[in-house]
Formats: sequence, C-alpha cells, structure tokens
Amino acid sequence: MSLTLSLPSLPTPRRFSFQPRSVQLSIDSPGSFSPSERQTGVVVIGAGLAGLAAATRLHSENIPFLVLEASDAVGGRVRTDPVAGFLLDRGFQIFITAYPEAKRLLDYQALDLQKFYAGARVYYGGGFHTVADPVLHFWDSIQTLTNPIGTVLDKLLIGLARLRVLSRSDEEILAADEVPTIEFLRKFGFSESIIGRFFRPFFGGVFFDRELETTSRLFDFIFKCLALGDNTLPAKGISAIPEQLASKLPTGSVLLNSKVVSVDRSGSGTVRLQNGDTIKSELGVVVAVEEPEVAKLLGLKPAEKKPARSTVCLYFSADRRQIPVREPILFLNGSGKGIVNNMFFATNVAPSYGPPGKALVSVSLIGLYDAVSDADLTAQVIGELSDWFGESIVGSWEHLRTYRVGFAQPNQSPPTNLVQDPRIGSGIYVCGDHVTSATFDGALVSGGRAVEALLRDRVKSPN
Ligand SMILES: Cc1cc2nc3c(=O)[nH]c(=O)nc-3n(C[C@H](O)[C@H](O)[C@H](O)COP(=O)(O)OP(=O)(O)OC[C@H]3O[C@@H](n4cnc5c(N)ncnc54)[C@H](O)[C@@H]3O)c2cc1C
Repeated sequence: MSLTLSLPSLPTPRRFSFQPRSVQLSIDSPGSFSPSERQTGVVVIGAGLAGLAAATRLHSENIPFLVLEASDAVGGRVRTDPVAGFLLDRGFQIFITAYPEAKRLLDYQALDLQKFYAGARVYYGGGFHTVADPVLHFWDSIQTLTNPIGTVLDKLLIGLARLRVLSRSDEEILAADEVPTIEFLRKFGFSESIIGRFFRPFFGGVFFDRELETTSRLFDFIFKCLALGDNTLPAKGISAIPEQLASKLPTGSVLLNSKVVSVDRSGSGTVRLQNGDTIKSELGVVVAVEEPEVAKLLGLKPAEKKPARSTVCLYFSADRRQIPVREPILFLNGSGKGIVNNMFFATNVAPSYGPPGKALVSVSLIGLYDAVSDADLTAQVIGELSDWFGESIVGSWEHLRTYRVGFAQPNQSPPTNLVQDPRIGSGIYVCGDHVTSATFDGALVSGGRAVEALLRDRVKSPN
C-alpha cells in the first residue's frame, strides 16, 4: 500500500530548519508502488546499524527521511533467526557494553543483556586452562598465573596493556600510529606462547583474522572496551539491537525489500530502486551499505581492496543436562591444530537462546571454507570437539544450521583510516563499519557522523 501524506508542520529542529513539502511514505508494502518519483528530506540506503544510527540522528533533528533496505528485515549483518525454538545469530557476535556510541543510543535494560564470564577457557595440550580478567575475577587470575597459556610475565603485561589503553581517549586510539596487531604484541613483549594460545584465537575470532594482521588501532579499541565493559548477548538474540533502534523510528520510515540500484552523482539527490521507482532527496543521500556495495551503487570503479574477513558458524542442539560445563564461558582453540577457532554453549550465557531442556552449541571457524561441503565441515567439527569434550557427549549433538558469512568485516589491516570524511560527492555521504572501526560501535558512530556532515553542509549552503 502506498500513501501520500502532507506532513503536519514539524517543530523547529534544534540545529537545522527544514520545511518539508509533501512526502510519500510506504506502509509495509513497497512492492506495490507504481513506478513514480517520490520525494523526502534524506534518503538512507541500508538498514544495518550504520543506516539505523543515521536515521535515529535525522529523526532527533526532525528531518523527514526514508530508509531503503534491500533485505526483508533491519539489522544487516546483525540478524537472528528463530529455528526450532533456538535463537541463531547469523554468526558468532558479542555485544560489549562499553561501546561508547552504543551506550548513548541503546536502552541496555530493555535489551536484557546476558553476561559472559570475563575471560576464556583455552584448549591446549589436551586439556582446558582458564584465562581470567584480573580485575573482575582476581582470584581466578591468581590461580591461573602459572598455567601454560603464557608466562607469569605475559599475565602481568596484560595488566600493563590494560593501563596503557585506559589512559588514552578513543579518538587518540583510532588515529594513533599503527602496526599489525601481531607486531604490536611482539614489540610489547608478549611471548609466542600467549600469542599462539590466547591472542590468536581470541582476537583472531574478533577480527576473523588468525594472522592478527588487523591494525593495532582496532586491537587497542577493543581491548579498552573489554576492560571497561561486559561481553554480553541480548536475551532475544543479537538482532534485538537493530530492532530496538528501528522501533524508535517513525512508522513507515523504513522500507524493506527495497533494493537501490543506483544513486545519481550529479547532485540531483535521486536514487533508483530495483522496482523502477525513483526517490528524490531534498537534502542528501546517506549510503549505509557494505563496503563492496558502495562502488556498485555509485557507479565507481572498485578500489583495489584487501580481501574481506569471512567466517563460518555452525550450530548444534544438545541435551541441556549433558553439556560439559554450566558456566557462560567462551572456549578458545589454543592448540594450533584443527579448524575450530572458538565455541561456547550459548544457552549457558542466555538460556532464552534454546527451548527448555535443550542447549545451543555455537562453533566458529575463521575463513569461508568454500571448498568444503557443509556435511564435511560438520563432521570435522564434531570430530575435533569430541577430542575436547569426549565422544560420548559430542556424538549426540544434532546439527541445526551452518552460516557462511563471506563478508563478515572489511579487512582493516594497515594502512587504515578509521576517521574517514563521510562526504563522497555532492549531497552524498557514506557510512558503515568500513569508514570507522569494523565493530557495532564503529557502524553506529559512522551513521551519526554522516548526518552531521550533511547538516553542516546544508547550514553552509541551505539550497
Ligand atoms: C558473523 C559476524 C560477527 C560479528 N561480530 C561482531 C562482534 O562481536 N562485535 C562487533 O562489534 N562487531 C561484530 N561484527 C561486525 C558488525 O556486525 C559490523 O561491523 C556492523 O554490523 C556493520 O554495520 P553496517 O551498518 O556498517 O553494515 P551492514 O550491517 O552490512 O548493513 C548494510 C545494509 O545495507 C543493505 N544494503 C546493501 N546494499 C543495498 C542496496 N543496494 N539497497 C538497499 N540496501 C542495501 C544490506 O542489506 C544491509 O542491511 C560481526 C560481523 C559478523 C558478520
């Protein structure tokens, strides 16, 4: 259904005054539009975290906008599928409560965040060894000082690295001199044992990069957030984050199943949809799509890019009474062998991730394994985890689903620019995790920044 609305006069925006003409909004069924030209204040392309943050900012400024999203729901890479009573996030994702922009934009209480243990359990030498956060689990960290996951000096250096990041602002961290994370860790004095057994699987899992080529800027930013906050999952799945942002936007302002095929770069503010519709923006276009899509939409020659980061996540169902641990802890593969990078029992963190009596097992691999069939990957993972926990336990797990995420994150190995100017043409602004840090927070920050740049430009040149 499509509907033409003459908007009531809006309260004067705090920083920008815009008198809308008539704006056509769609309610739920953009497919039924007849090909025509519509008009709005700002068009936002993409309803991932960046696009939703841009829309949130526009809404707070009382500027009319439309978000055009190609897929059937908001969230972009942050989606959850309900499957047989389980909540399956599309790949292993953790929400860190200390993300600064997330703190500003999200209602944490409503997300009902469920905490992980602050640390990890490392599989190494045929057994498990705990690495604990020295501040949150002081006694655990003392008891594990002499375990084989690094030397005593390594564990003291973790404390020093923590102080180092806590003394710097996020702005300093994201613009600091950079080297690959692996180089930073070695220069800082960490031994090869803690690098291989802890940093590689842990930060390799965060960056989808076991080589740890990712910039030290991102390492410092995540390390700081980990020191200041909790690792959590929203009780209703990771998609509760974008859904909360979308729920605060005006009804009808997000059009799903609305793929944009081109953006006019001449400054007309016109975008064309796959169904033939065009929408004209009076103030500007915010392009909030994944990095590889930006060039396609704008008709630009794709820049030489480093290969994107990929991951595979396999989910299994288990009997809740027969899982080997009850703690909400992340398991890391520190053995240097096999394909599993990390795994956890999601229902130990958030019981709502599974139906009564069932446990949800989440297993992550780094890379896409596109030459290996799902069946072979499943068999290999079951075989490896049988070595970890015993065949009698793992043998009964039932495979639920495998997610292969080809573009999980942009490659952020040096050189990086994590504070890019969002302006990429007349009235066109770009946002997304590829222009800041490849994190939930980076995506949120970038959406706000794109709108700020647009507002600044309109104040300078109002027509
Ligand atoms: C498996 C996985 C695990 C992750 N884990 C973490 C984690 O633990 N912590 C963390 O901080 N970050 C994590 N990330 C990274 C984080 O999810 C991303 O950095 C962030 O969500 C990116 O948001 P975005 O809005 O920039 O892009 P996206 O989420 O990719 O959104 C882009 C949107 O644009 C839409 N779109 C594309 N083309 C068009 C078009 N032509 N027309 C209309 N719409 C279009 C897409 O459908 C999509 O909805 C993870 C990512 C993945 C994939």
